[in-house]
Amino acid sequence: MAKVLKFGGTSMANADSIAKVADIVKSDPDAKYVVVSAPGKRAKGDVKVTDLLINFYGALEADKKAVFEKVKNRFEDIIAGLGLNLDLSSDYKEIYESALEGASYDYVISRGEYLSAKVLAEYIGYNFFDAASIIKFDEKGAFDAELTNELASNALYNLSDVVIPGFYGSNDKNYIKTFSRGGSDVSGAIIARAINASIYENWTDVNGFLVCDPRIVEDSRVIDMLTFRELRELSYMGASVLHPESVFPVREAGIPINIRNTFAPSAPGTMIVPVEGLISGKYRRAKRIVTGIAGKKDFIGIYIERQMMNGEVGFCKMLLDILYRHHISLEHMPTGIDTLTLIIDPVSTNETSIQAAIDDIISEAQPNHIEVTRNLALLAVVGHGMSRSMGTATRVFKCLSDAKVNIRMIDQGSSEMNIIIAVENSDYEKASRAIYEEFEK
Ligand code: ASP
Repeated sequence: MAKVLKFGGTSMANADSIAKVADIVKSDPDAKYVVVSAPGKRAKGDVKVTDLLINFYGALEADKKAVFEKVKNRFEDIIAGLGLNLDLSSDYKEIYESALEGASYDYVISRGEYLSAKVLAEYIGYNFFDAASIIKFDEKGAFDAELTNELASNALYNLSDVVIPGFYGSNDKNYIKTFSRGGSDVSGAIIARAINASIYENWTDVNGFLVCDPRIVEDSRVIDMLTFRELRELSYMGASVLHPESVFPVREAGIPINIRNTFAPSAPGTMIVPVEGLISGKYRRAKRIVTGIAGKKDFIGIYIERQMMNGEVGFCKMLLDILYRHHISLEHMPTGIDTLTLIIDPVSTNETSIQAAIDDIISEAQPNHIEVTRNLALLAVVGHGMSRSMGTATRVFKCLSDAKVNIRMIDQGSSEMNIIIAVENSDYEKASRAIYEEFEK
């Protein structure tokens, strides 16, 4: 059974961490396809190679040499630390000269992954395989999933022991094109789908997804198993370990993702599996009601009250039209009989548009009362277990009231696997801790 193992920037940061990567790959006979990021930060305050390359691209011509030296030094340190006899001077020369001749931004910033893959391939005795020939983008710059899958499966299916650089592919004119930052996760998922991997192992520097943000609950438990749906709900609320787009290729193909820690390889990490696999018994996890808790601060709530709103056809449509007109995306809309609240994430818009939308709501929808709250934090309590057990909401509300947290709004997602609670920003940490204690202790 072939596996895809993707190693992130911290795993590829220096010779010591790359030696750990090599141990992991070498100890697993199924580790046939390896995808890598560019070297990341070696310690707090350090600069990732991708950021060095971004600086290199933006530097004035007179400064370019000095900035490129830093990139070179990162790789030369790694090569020396690993005791390799690898000469990358023709690659450095090509990158440097191409940049001077006006090579694209995407080409320049993708070279960290390119060199990183070359180094690891040499160290573990695998073959380097360039992603540019199999990961394709169309003429508009959009990722072409089907063409990629065809090219990648044809090219890779009968290959083995290859290291592939993450983060980039090429467009219809064969120019290098990158994904957004963190995109090596996406590359790994694409390769996993193409070779129909038994599992996509994503090796990073944490033990997996935590039940709650460790800045709030210091000793939070690691989630052993998560469904793709739960992952989506938690990531949307800010829990980030994986690039969001990395889920689609493997989810569709039913391939599980295993988040692992390069620096604690014996820890099982977090498995992300299709819900059908849990139902059929293929995957098993301890019975729990709540899988994870995540949240974000600084939402805006526009509370609207209008007599007989309940019977008025088209009232919500009018409000949604107003938001649409001002390019504001709606996050949630809990409704009462003659009341409703529009919840907006200000990050997706700007103050002028919000103010203009409020003015239009007042003049067009003519509410009896309108109130705008700015300091709302949203907290999502997520778990498939909730749909089968009664009393979860009661437990959530009781523990919040015991902690003296005032609930400003409640929205239970129609999937019945997510209860969203709005509290004041200042109560956010307290509320998260109270829910964690209630369901974990
Ligand atoms: N090196 C790229 C970045 O820093 C891509 C990646 O690491 O996944 O965003």
